[in-house]
Amino acid sequence: MKTKSVDNAIRRTANYGFKVDRDGQLKCRVCSCTETRPCNPPCGWFGNSDLCTGCADAIHALLDWREGAHRANLTALLREVRYWEKHGTQQMREREVRRNTRLVEAAGGGR
Ligand SMILES: [Zn+2]
Ligand SMILES: [Zn+2]
Repeated sequence: MKTKSVDNAIRRTANYGFKVDRDGQLKCRVCSCTETRPCNPPCGWFGNSDLCTGCADAIHALLDWREGAHRANLTALLREVRYWEKHGTQQMREREVRRNTRLVEAAGGGR
């Protein structure tokens, strides 16, 4: 029986290892970006998969976080993401810059 998911699987297989052209609609399996509508900054395909590099970077960051966090609570993290979205990320980014400056100083940078 031919189902939608089978169709998608066939399409994935057909595109496996290839970047599709403008008419191809291979979508990132996470964020649904395509060749013609990429993420910002523009992404590529992660390996020979239907996962884009933007999402792959995010996954890497999350895995690093999970590895190092005292208690990696993904639900709490996503709640925080929504909080940042709601209250604007500009102020948060400025805090991050200050934090990074401290880290550089702590590492003996700036000499
Ligand atoms: Zn993606
Ligand atoms: Zn993307």
